[in-house]
Amino acid sequence: MADAASRSRGARVVLLGPPGAGKGTQGQVLCQHLGVPAISTGDMLREAVAEGTPLGNKVQGIMASGALVDDATMADVVRERLAKPDARRGYLLDGYPRTLPQAETLAGILRDAAQELDAVLLVDVPEDELVRRTLLRGRGDDKEDVIRERLRVYREKTAPLIGYYRERGLLREIDGNRPVEDVTAGMLGLFGAGREVSSEVNNEVAGA
Ligand code: AMP
Repeated sequence: MADAASRSRGARVVLLGPPGAGKGTQGQVLCQHLGVPAISTGDMLREAVAEGTPLGNKVQGIMASGALVDDATMADVVRERLAKPDARRGYLLDGYPRTLPQAETLAGILRDAAQELDAVLLVDVPEDELVRRTLLRGRGDDKEDVIRERLRVYREKTAPLIGYYRERGLLREIDGNRPVEDVTAGMLGLFGAGREVSSEVNNEVAGA
């Protein structure tokens, strides 16, 4: 079964897409299917803020404004996380890389470990829909001006990664402007999973 095959193989996958496109939701399903941890740099930073660590104190204001944390800080965070044992067989990266220098950092980490990315999944959604969804979600940092700023930063700093990964033959595009189950099915289809597998995984998530 494709599911068993990909679990035993592991996989290194990057989720790319604007804030609010549903990367976190889709990432949860896909990482179960692939049998690898989902690594969200946004979640890691929010945890650091909540715990009041030196990293958290450094990034709190930056995150609240919708700007990006600097590439050197993020390189330390990601290098340390990817070195943990649970990431040995692969990972699903959500929220990293977000700039061209970060993509180069990731390429360096992979090169040093004689590893390669399997795919970069672009989950795309029109901008007005993104603002609507993010306001509905209502997280503390989700004020409309901050959302607009995050989208501006995405277009300026992160969108260039689409071309970067397309040139390297890694980009797979997913229309995120559909019901969430359709997005999930489309995404799992890219990894060779059939209908049975996607409903199986959905049940796992629903029952979790
Ligand atoms: P996210 O949950 O991925 O939208 O991330 C929330 C916030 O954390 C972002 O708006 C940034 O301020 C910061 N952040 C997360 N990942 C990165 C990254 N790879 N580079 C820079 N800043 C990041």
